[in-house]
Amino acid sequence: MAAGEFSGWREKLSTSLLAEQWPDELQSIVTKLANGVSLNREDGHILFNSKNLDSIGSIANIIKYSRFEDRAFFNVNVHINQTNICTLACKFCAFRRGRRAPDAYQLDVDEYIEDLRQYSDHVDEVHSVGGLHPEWDVEHYMKLFSSVKKEFPDIHIKALTAVEIKHLANLSGLSIKDTLSSLHDSGLDSLPGGGAEILDDEVRRIICNGKESSQEYLDIHRTAHELGIPTNCTMLFGTVESIDQRLTHLLRLRELQSESNGFQCFVPYPYLPDDSRLPQAQLATGTEVLRMIAISRIMLDNIPHIKAYRMNIGDEIAELALRFGADDIDGTVQKESIMHLAGSKAPLDHDKAQLAKLVIDAGARPIRRNTVYSSFEEYIIPKVTKTRNLRMAAGD
Ligand code: SF4
Repeated sequence: MAAGEFSGWREKLSTSLLAEQWPDELQSIVTKLANGVSLNREDGHILFNSKNLDSIGSIANIIKYSRFEDRAFFNVNVHINQTNICTLACKFCAFRRGRRAPDAYQLDVDEYIEDLRQYSDHVDEVHSVGGLHPEWDVEHYMKLFSSVKKEFPDIHIKALTAVEIKHLANLSGLSIKDTLSSLHDSGLDSLPGGGAEILDDEVRRIICNGKESSQEYLDIHRTAHELGIPTNCTMLFGTVESIDQRLTHLLRLRELQSESNGFQCFVPYPYLPDDSRLPQAQLATGTEVLRMIAISRIMLDNIPHIKAYRMNIGDEIAELALRFGADDIDGTVQKESIMHLAGSKAPLDHDKAQLAKLVIDAGARPIRRNTVYSSFEEYIIPKVTKTRNLRMAAGD
């Protein structure tokens, strides 16, 4: 069973899809899916333009259910954003600071370790992304990761987005492959998927000029996969992109996955506008977020997991997303800056029981997983023993 999937899920999917009645406009899509045929760009346009959002959600949910039944995966992690100092200034970013800004910060190796120590007895993963620091090169991160591993050998390090890898390679005069190899040898276990935004250079020129090109993003992830480093992939939607450009994004990720098979999870999230500089952004509505998640599940048939990124979409939409094709939900998180500076109100202090309740309320079973989806354990909410502490009112 790969990545938590049930073997034989495609047969189950076919039977389940063919057992239902579907609107005429979705019939050809359902037939393709039932026969294991990947959808093309035209099919994607039909899904984006359809008024039958409920049916699209049902198709996505049937795919999710066939693969994973009613399980919803989460891990117990902490986000530590190591610095907000960044040499770039992406227009959607509310997090970055120039190095002389009064609220600029950088955690040196000891400070990072002390920060992590507060959570180290109960987290499985530390998730670290940050700005492109003008001086921190590969050596700095090798020292950081080897120190983390020395102190906390059981904590998985998921860190550095593709643009951070490119920045480190440039600063250090190394190839991408040598950069990733050195970091991997020092303790880096996997890469998050951040920085994909929309994999179309016309959009990238407007929203994140100077960042890695869409081809560079894909090449960095391909190199990581070749080195045996699993990665996630993301999509930032609701800025200035067209539907066709969103489809280009999905199709490019699917194409790379068919070659390298190293993406574990796709994480689509909408642009949050607070304190950023994109007045022309379209801003996704709640139903658009749900449609995007459902279409991701339907189009990306070779990427196993689709995440409801509650740090960005909030707990309420994340719950609904679990009924629109998502099988994975953000972990306990506990500390996060990037989305919260952009306006996210998602709670940071969920313990496992609160997170599990959210999953159960959505009709799913909470399954605690490790980062690489190789170990699973159903999470049972502990029974709370109520202590009754009745006091007799005076005079009674
Ligand atoms: S998104 Fe990343 S690279 Fe772009 S400005 Fe923000 S921190 Fe820097």
